[in-house]
Amino acid sequence: MYDVIILGGGPAGYLAAERLGHHGKKVLIIEKSFLGGTCLNVGCIPTKTLLNSAKLYSHVLEGDQFGIHCDKVSYDWKAIQAWKTEVVEKLHSGISGMLEKYKVTVKEGRAELIAPPGGRDGARVRISNTKDEVQEAEGRTVLISTGSVPTMPPIPGSAGNEKLVDSTAILSVQEVPTALTVIGGGVIGVEFASLFSALGSKVTVIEMLDEILPFMDREQAPLMRRAMKTVNFKLGCRVEQIDGGRVFYRDKAGEAQHVDADLILMAAGRQPELQGWGAERLGLDLTRQGIAVDDRMRTNLSGIWAAGDVTGKSLLAHSAYRMGEVAVTDILAYLDRLEGKQPTVPTDRMRYDAVPWAVYGIPEAAGVGLTEQEAEQRGLAVKKGSLPMRISGRFLAENGFAAPGSCKVIVSNSNDRILGVHAIGSYASEFIWGSAVLIEQELRIQDVREIIFPHPTVSEIIRDVVWTM
Ligand SMILES: Cc1cc2nc3c(=O)[nH]c(=O)nc-3n(C[C@H](O)[C@H](O)[C@H](O)COP(=O)(O)OP(=O)(O)OC[C@H]3O[C@@H](n4cnc5c(N)ncnc54)[C@H](O)[C@@H]3O)c2cc1C
Repeated sequence: MYDVIILGGGPAGYLAAERLGHHGKKVLIIEKSFLGGTCLNVGCIPTKTLLNSAKLYSHVLEGDQFGIHCDKVSYDWKAIQAWKTEVVEKLHSGISGMLEKYKVTVKEGRAELIAPPGGRDGARVRISNTKDEVQEAEGRTVLISTGSVPTMPPIPGSAGNEKLVDSTAILSVQEVPTALTVIGGGVIGVEFASLFSALGSKVTVIEMLDEILPFMDREQAPLMRRAMKTVNFKLGCRVEQIDGGRVFYRDKAGEAQHVDADLILMAAGRQPELQGWGAERLGLDLTRQGIAVDDRMRTNLSGIWAAGDVTGKSLLAHSAYRMGEVAVTDILAYLDRLEGKQPTVPTDRMRYDAVPWAVYGIPEAAGVGLTEQEAEQRGLAVKKGSLPMRISGRFLAENGFAAPGSCKVIVSNSNDRILGVHAIGSYASEFIWGSAVLIEQELRIQDVREIIFPHPTVSEIIRDVVWTM
């Protein structure tokens, strides 16, 4: 019998498997398509690889201002795609290697939880592969990490429409579209809009809300939108119908409008994968977002944990990693107790207050903690400081005078604690974790003023902003 059976080999599942293996547990991980999940195969990694090529291309086009003259600049979409595949494959072998190192058993196939663990019996899981072979496995505990899938709203004209793709299919289009319409101005929509507009597509983003990137600070989001100069944003517009490459929508004033493209990307969000593995039958508590879990990632059923996108708590790979790790500590304690031992690993708890996010668009943006509006909603009196990125020597040197960028810091009025940091501009995604530390450690303005930041770096902007407050 396995100590733990893991359903789904994405970031939550494979990292949990590695950690459990590290603790000497007998682990089985079952994956129906590719290890690495959405993140490695059709999410974070392929998109960032493609975006890097697009960023490089745009930067070279602006080379004159940095004294670099390129007479003929072009890109080769097939070569860009090949590089993406190479990166994914390399990281793939890394995950397989780590699972092997920790003696984790990997089985390919669709997992279905037949019976939860109970009494002396373990949980029973059925594994069916594409060759119609079926086998069963038994485990003392189960971790569900089946992730999420793209949401495809039933808009008339979308079924069977070959010009309509989701975030997975668009990754392997044969050609860069001449015109692309993106339905949805969230992270995925904005990243693909950046990618294809940098490569020369005429991009239109249709967003139902009044602003893109709804989780972003309301002063920063318009800056981000305006910074994406070549993308045409249609805000407050509701898509009503699709016909081939034509999207019909109603604008803010209630007028019927349409836009034509040779490709349409549906980027209307993602939903937890609750189908096909027995969720309906087991009596698991579900919320509208996904599987209900507590801060130790326990479900309502003893011996079953859930982590990652399937919980709907925070649909980010780094949140999935952390949820997996938190689940592991609780599973280890549970297994110790099963064996009549005192738990040896300290209990860990999942916290969501300082989860950084990043949008790897052109420009990129990142943030952590409260926006000004969230602070107000919580009834917190706050003060704010902000500065344009170009006051940073490194930022100016590398991006030029016209490059958009800004950093905003939110601080509690009552005790000067840092509550949120929000940045637009290059490297934002790389330095935002440091701001997560400021928030997690409850540091105050004075503490940040005493930290020495390396110079010249873009991250120094945070210290500069704090000195204005
Ligand atoms: C285009 C795109 C870009 C993204 N970019 C970023 C980014 O830059 N940064 C970031 O933090 N996040 C990003 N994300 C989100 C990130 O990919 C997810 O948050 C992350 O992959 C969630 O990890 P997970 O382990 O919960 O689930 P997943 O990665 O979805 O993995 C779940 C796995 O379970 C498998 N599975 C499902 N059901 C079964 C079953 N019954 N039996 C066996 N296996 C099963 C699936 O095949 C899948 O491999 C992006 C997502 C997309 C779509």
